[in-house]
Amino acid sequence: MDERLKYAPCGYVSVTNQGVITYMNQTFLDMVEYNQNDLLHQHIESIMTVANKFLFHTYFYPFIQLYGYVNEVYLTLKSSKDEDIPVLLNGRRCERDGIELVDCVFVHMRKRIDYEQEIRKSKKEIEKAYEDKNEALVKLESLHEELEMKQRELIVLNEELERLATTDGLTGLKNRRYFLEELNKNITLFSSSQSPFSLLIIDVDHFKKINDTFGHLTGDEILRGLAKIMTSISREIDIVARYGGEEFIILLPHMDKAAVKQQAEKLRSAIEKTKCADCFATVSIGAATFTDEDTDISILAKADTALYESKNEGRNRVTHADELVENR
Ligand code: GH3
Ligand code: MG
Ligand code: MG
Repeated sequence: MDERLKYAPCGYVSVTNQGVITYMNQTFLDMVEYNQNDLLHQHIESIMTVANKFLFHTYFYPFIQLYGYVNEVYLTLKSSKDEDIPVLLNGRRCERDGIELVDCVFVHMRKRIDYEQEIRKSKKEIEKAYEDKNEALVKLESLHEELEMKQRELIVLNEELERLATTDGLTGLKNRRYFLEELNKNITLFSSSQSPFSLLIIDVDHFKKINDTFGHLTGDEILRGLAKIMTSISREIDIVARYGGEEFIILLPHMDKAAVKQQAEKLRSAIEKTKCADCFATVSIGAATFTDEDTDISILAKADTALYESKNEGRNRVTHADELVENR
């Protein structure tokens, strides 16, 4: 046989129709690590795995009988050292010297199989990475939801904190701090709009006596009752606050002297007529209306002086600061 065929870059084997080896080149012998004498006149199936023998019978022989050739059959041969040798087989039926033979070409497939394994491994790694990514995304989403929930809770808590910081604990009215902030806002508004506003300082008459007679708890109950009356008689825009102790203060936007006097009288009379904790209490009221010359301190002082006058005049009455000026 041709020297070139002997060392061709593929294994070459001729078998009879029954599969008996009649020739093999050196490349094939090197591939399966056998000597020529070991394989010559042996059956080709003697160097195949059981599974491959089955494939040979069910596919290779019938196909080559039918079409005269077989292309790209993947097989695993067994070397003399019992190692697996993956190969690609092409076969062709031919006739030489009146004898029918099948020429077979074997190409070693180790590299390709290694590549396939690499690809399979990479595919698995990619799939795993996708799974991990999806898991991380789900986790991130749940963390995001948790964060949003916490932020909503924080907003609610801040609102509650803000409410507590501006509310009087006993009566639920606004506290002094909130009132003073609102007073200053109204002063700023006054300088641009000149819209009048007034305030009332309301002090419970002889409250010490009420406490002494009915007890402190009843005193507290009365303060809560008075807060309710004041709120019910005031408008939405009025700021009703507890100024401290048994004193209340109301800011009345858009009310001039006449209107605030009427409103104060309405309050005084409602309190006088309404039972709180089974008692009747009365209040003295000092009113003042803001003018161009006023500041937050001066209007509070005016209302306080008017209140003092109400007390001096016998209590359970209303005095507007302007009346004091007029009477002087
Ligand atoms: P006047 O008519 O001159 O205002 O007399 P008054 O007794 O109301 O005034 P005074 O300032 O002498 O006493 C106020 C009392 O109010 C004394 C204090 O114990 C009481 N008081 C202040 N804050 C509270 C409170 O939160 N609850 C109760 N029950 N009493 C309070
Ligand atoms: Mg007082
Ligand atoms: Mg009092």
